[in-house]
Formats: sequence, structure tokens, C-alpha cells
Amino acid sequence: MKSLVWFRSDLRMDDNPALRNACIESDEVHGIYLYSKKQLKLHNEANCKTEFIIENLKALSKSLININIPLTIINVDSFQNCERELLNICNERSLSKIYFNNQFGEDEQERDKSVIECFKKNNLDISAFDDQVVYKPGFIKTGEGKPYSVFTPFKRRWIENFNMDLLDIDFSYTQKVKTQIIPNVDNFEFDFKKQNIVNMELWPAGEEQALIILNNYLKEKIFRYSIDRNDPIIDGTSRLSPYLASGIISPKRCILEALKINNFELDSGEKGITKWIDEIVWREFYKNIMYSFPRVSKGKPFQEYTNKIQWRFDEAEFTAWKDGNTGFPLIDSAMRQLKHEGWMHNRLRMVTAMFFTKNLLHDWRLGEKYFMENLMDGDFSSNNGGWQWSSSTGTDAAPYFRIFNPLTQSKNFDPKGLFIKKYVDEIKDLSSKDIHDPSDHQRNSCNYPMRICDLKQSRLRAIEAFNKAKN
Ligand SMILES: Cc1cc2nc3c(=O)[nH]c(=O)nc-3n(C[C@H](O)[C@H](O)[C@H](O)COP(=O)(O)OP(=O)(O)OC[C@H]3O[C@@H](n4cnc5c(N)ncnc54)[C@H](O)[C@@H]3O)c2cc1C
Repeated sequence: MKSLVWFRSDLRMDDNPALRNACIESDEVHGIYLYSKKQLKLHNEANCKTEFIIENLKALSKSLININIPLTIINVDSFQNCERELLNICNERSLSKIYFNNQFGEDEQERDKSVIECFKKNNLDISAFDDQVVYKPGFIKTGEGKPYSVFTPFKRRWIENFNMDLLDIDFSYTQKVKTQIIPNVDNFEFDFKKQNIVNMELWPAGEEQALIILNNYLKEKIFRYSIDRNDPIIDGTSRLSPYLASGIISPKRCILEALKINNFELDSGEKGITKWIDEIVWREFYKNIMYSFPRVSKGKPFQEYTNKIQWRFDEAEFTAWKDGNTGFPLIDSAMRQLKHEGWMHNRLRMVTAMFFTKNLLHDWRLGEKYFMENLMDGDFSSNNGGWQWSSSTGTDAAPYFRIFNPLTQSKNFDPKGLFIKKYVDEIKDLSSKDIHDPSDHQRNSCNYPMRICDLKQSRLRAIEAFNKAKN
């Protein structure tokens, strides 16, 4: 049989069930990637993430051709054109089956439904797999057969159902029949203009690199994860999120390799390891939320009463937040990290998102969009989940009256101000005591902005807005 593998957010060979099954069942295998600049923009994908995807397509193409699988990139206007392009390529090359790994966004599911119908009509075979989660979305259910909306019981059930067969992912590829098709990634016109200042050396492309990052992380740092994960100056987290988001590495590979150094124990043994696996389960939890509660994909809050919140909007405040000029050093350093790295530490994502939605009382959807437009690891479900958690509109959300104080957060998680100094150059010479909240005189002499809001008053304003919406 001759078949086609349609790559989407799974730009790797390792633990790629669509590719693996195509290789098992077919003599000749072709790969395709449908590139749509318009669709990337519609989904607010960051310019740096697109750059990362392009580099990873090049790496993938090189690996695939080693086993005689040519990768062809095709320009499509939008998701609507996918079925036609796929059908054309199957007809032109006499391919009789298509394989892909599922994506869970609403638009993606609609697109896939049309492709499946079109292929059935044309008597072509199709097989879909799940590569982004350990359990099929919707599989983990409460006793009443309902989807979970709280993480801890979800995780408990996740663990109860677990067995090592779920991580049976190792596979050795062998060469397929050689085709006449020449991979086109090096000559493909991506029509891409670099509009970011991200240091791409932080994110080397290719699955080999992702595995190196994973293995280095598992050698040492993971053992201190539960201690170091909240300190932004310590590189205590794996920084694998961009690779997971674009599918350069799979979550199953991450969990399997972590379990190997923890006697295959999921909820006992090394605290750092179990905590780290928890975070990957959080990722799966948010994918399930998006799958089971499609309203969150349509810009709706999970907590329906929060629809009634009267959000404010102030252009100058929005710009100050985006540019890292709020006058709150920890917030500003975090927002500048986002621009320079295309990534932000998790603790700071929570602090900046809560400041935006509570102290500034701005609509979480604006912040969610801005993050997506700038994150190398932009992942709709995790980003939406993180924003809805921080703004108390989501599942398992922070109670609305529990509002992080950015100055206390700064003193607790960056006590010496080392992280602030790394990004907020203007105040890098201030002492570790002053740096969290410089005096007016210091601000003037360092040319650093005054605070854009009063923390006490803005906190009360947020609580009042939530109370009003609730009653
Ligand atoms: C407002 C907000 C927005 C966010 N947006 C995104 C996003 O667009 N993409 C994204 O991948 N994560 C997002 N997160 C979750 C988290 O901040 C990042 O996954 C984490 O910082 C990535 O760094 P790391 O790879 O070093 O994580 P590690 O701490 O090493 O964790 C390992 C992996 O677990 C997953 N993970 C970790 N924490 C979370 C979490 N809280 N929720 C879901 N998955 C998690 C990630 O895939 C991560 O790579 C967001 C969190 C918040 C509060």
C-alpha cells in the first residue's frame, strides 16, 4: 500500500502514532504539511512560533528522507482548502490511505470532519490517532460519567487507570520504498517575515534537540523541581513547552523517561519527578476541558456568571502592561522576558495575568490573545486554562478574592531581585531591598515609570466587580 501522513502539531518521528502505523501498514509512505499563513494569524500564533515551526519542518524533512519518506509542504489559504489539497495529492500519487494525529480545537475538529467525509466519499481510507494525551480526551470521567472540571480528582482517576502499556511507544523505523518525489522544504516559499526579537538560540530546532533538553533536565534539575520551580532566576523548569506545543516531543516520551528514573512510580518516590509529571497531566487536563466544554474555545468563560463582569479598558494601561512599563518591577521584567525569549516563567505568567485581570480589571481575553501572539509555546488549551485560572473565570480557578500582590510575589520569588535586574536594566543598580518597589526619587533618577495603579484600591475594585456579577 502507498499512504500519506498528514503532519500538523506532531513534527517528529518518535512516538508519532500516525507515522508509526503508516510505516507498519504501507510499503511506500509520503508526508505532507499544509501551511496556511492566514490560519496561523486567525489563531493568533506568534511570529516566533511560526519561525520555530519552519525550522522544525526542515529538521523533520531531513529525518524522514533517511527512511525514504519525502515531506511535501503545500500552501493552503485556510482550513477550508485542506480536503481538496489532500485529495489532489492522493490522486496524483496514487496514495490510498491518509494517517494523522488528532487536534482538539473546535476549528481543527471541523476541518478534520470535512476531510474524513470527503475521503469516505472518494473511497479513500483514513486513520486518526491521539498523540498529545495519554488517554483519549473524554475518557477520564467522574463516577456519574461526567467530565472532570477540577484537576485533583481528574489526576487521581488518571493515575488509577494508568498502566505501562499506555507508554508502549518505542519503535524502530526501517526504510520504506524510495519514491521519485523530492522534499520541498528548502525551496518552499513560506512568505515569512521575522517580526520578533526572540533569541532563537534558546530554542534549537529538531526532535534530537528536544530529547537532549529532556535528558539533560532528567539528569539533575528534575530532582529539585518541587523546590526550584517557582524561582524565575533559577532555570529550574524544563523549558520543554515550545517542543510539546508544536509536537517536537511527545508527552508520553516525557513521562516515560521520567518514570524510568523513578522506579516507574507515578505518585511516590522522588518528589521533584512526581510534581513534574503532574504538570504534564495539567496539560492533559486542559486539553480535556477544551474537548468536553467547547464553549471555552469560543471565547466564553467556564464560570458562566463571570460573563456579567464589567471589565475596564484603558489603552495606556494595556500598552504599559504589554511593554513592561507598569512601574511594578516583577511584572515589567516578566513582560520583557516574554518579548525577548518568546517564553515566560510559569509563576510570572500567573502574576502578570492576575495583575492584568484583577488590578487593571481588563478582560482576560485580551491578555490571552496577547500571550498567544507572543509565546513560542502558545497552546490554546493551556493558555486559555492559565488565563481563566488567573482571572477566576475558569475551572479550578483561583478564588476571585485571592489576588496576588505583585510586590509580595516579587519579594518571595525573586528575593535578591536578580530576575528583575536581568530584564529591567534601568533599575539594575538598586539594592535588593529597593528593587521590588523603588521610591519616587529613585524612579525619577533611573527613568523608571511610576506605578500605573494603586494596589489596594484596584484590588477592592476587582472584588466589587466580581461580587456585582455574582449577585
Ligand atoms: C496565564 C498562563 C498562560 C499559559 N500559557 C501557556 C501556553 O500557551 N502554553 C503552554 O504550554 N503552557 C502555558 N501555561 C502553562 C505554563 O506556564 C507553561 O507550560 C510552563 O511555564 C512551561 O515551562 P516549562 O516547559 O519549563 O514547564 P515545566 O515546569 O518543565 O513543565 C513541563 C511541562 O508541563 C506542562 N505544564 C507545566 N505547567 C503547566 C500548566 N500550569 N498548565 C498546563 N501545562 C503545564 C508544559 O507542557 C510544560 O512544558 C500558561 C500558564 C499561565 C498561568
